[in-house]
Amino acid sequence: MSAAPAKTPSVPVARLDDGDPVLFHELLGKVERLAAAGAFIGGDEVAAFECEFADYCEVPHAVSVSSGTDALLLVLRALGLGPGDEVIVPANSFIATAEAVSLCGATPCFVDVDPVSHTITAELVERAITSRTRCVLPVHLHGRTVELDPIIALCDAPGIAVVEDACQAHGARYGGRRVGSISTAGCFSFYPAKNLGAWGDGGAVVTADPELADRVRLLHSHGERPRYHHRIVGTTARLDAIQAAVLRVKLRRLDAWNESRRQAAAVFSGALDGLDLAVPAASPAGHDHVYHHYVVVAEDRDGLREQLAASGVASAVHYPVPIHLTGAYASGGPGPGSLPVCERLAEQICSLPIFPGMTADEMDRVTRGVAVARGLGVAP
Ligand SMILES: *Cc1c(COP(=O)(O)O)cnc(C)c1O
Repeated sequence: MSAAPAKTPSVPVARLDDGDPVLFHELLGKVERLAAAGAFIGGDEVAAFECEFADYCEVPHAVSVSSGTDALLLVLRALGLGPGDEVIVPANSFIATAEAVSLCGATPCFVDVDPVSHTITAELVERAITSRTRCVLPVHLHGRTVELDPIIALCDAPGIAVVEDACQAHGARYGGRRVGSISTAGCFSFYPAKNLGAWGDGGAVVTADPELADRVRLLHSHGERPRYHHRIVGTTARLDAIQAAVLRVKLRRLDAWNESRRQAAAVFSGALDGLDLAVPAASPAGHDHVYHHYVVVAEDRDGLREQLAASGVASAVHYPVPIHLTGAYASGGPGPGSLPVCERLAEQICSLPIFPGMTADEMDRVTRGVAVARGLGVAP
């Protein structure tokens, strides 16, 4: 029996920690030590991670929580939002941005995005403000920084809070400042595939406001202070000690990983220039992009994806349905045709593989796969 020809390995959309054996073993050691000590909730690792993440984000306070969704929800609850309040949310985001608003009882008001940056702008926000608007949730989507200063300026006089959804942009800088540190509060997710990912779910809230941080801290553990004295109705939304320990190790590598993502993106954008698709717009001065996703826009997106798959290159769509048209929000929302940029993008966007430490061969496979799909070049 003759052996089948070796199948060329496919390039995945993202790669997790098992791709780095040294890191993987360091993390396993941390998990083993904590499990042996029975140190699962709270403790030194959680406290140390909160200090280190606050330092990293250049803010005085960080509260670790159980997910990015809980980070957003607890900030909105801590701000006192509830029924009757409106929160402005881009329709081009992961659904969690809107869910957090709904979960606190407020109403998400979906807005369209800029066709170049794929993020919200002050002009789009201004048109959506009503007398009930209490908060705006700009999303640093795919790792690209939102033009925040005009949004913050717009919201200042009417007393509207601005809370950054930084779940896809850990470590990115806007005007020299880390995302999350620029507005009222910043919310992060440590879902495994994020630029800073745990070995499970996790999240954090960062803020310069000590009262807001304190309220989030009370909310995330049953409103309890001291033990068995419950001051307010809270919930269980803590970060596990094992996740904190994993995140502490990985945080030290985050800047290098983000730089590696930027380098891969630069290679892609150079190689894909002139092919029949739009690569991510270059970041204007003062902006940053940490390429959580590398998103191209192509009219025949589904055809492109099929041909990439045939070349052994995985791809994804972030996200195929804009939030205002998903089942959860379709009824009572603005409806099809109301947010044309988000709706067109949902049909034309394609996320190519990108992760830190991508080899030259992997990058080459991606760019050659796209060239082949465009009728140029030979199959990788
Ligand atoms: C991942 C993500 C979230 C939610 O994070 P979870 O940790 O999965 O709850 C929120 N907003 C955006 C933009 C995200 O990408």
